[in-house]
Amino acid sequence: MNTRCPHCGWPDSEPCSVLSRHVTPEGQTVRTRCACGSLQVRLITSAGAHVVSRSRPARTFAGSG
Ligand SMILES: [Zn+2]
Repeated sequence: MNTRCPHCGWPDSEPCSVLSRHVTPEGQTVRTRCACGSLQVRLITSAGAHVVSRSRPARTFAGSG
């Protein structure tokens, strides 16, 4: 996986924090949180890993105020 977080540039291959991991018939579903607070859902199968869902960064990084 050579992609990076579009919000902060963190490499997707090195998740900052792993929140949960579930084994499914298709492979593993892993939820991670990026350094910027963006939550990711990634699917890991025998064919490789890819991010299937990615949320916006945490509001605390928006700099409001
Ligand atoms: Zn990020």
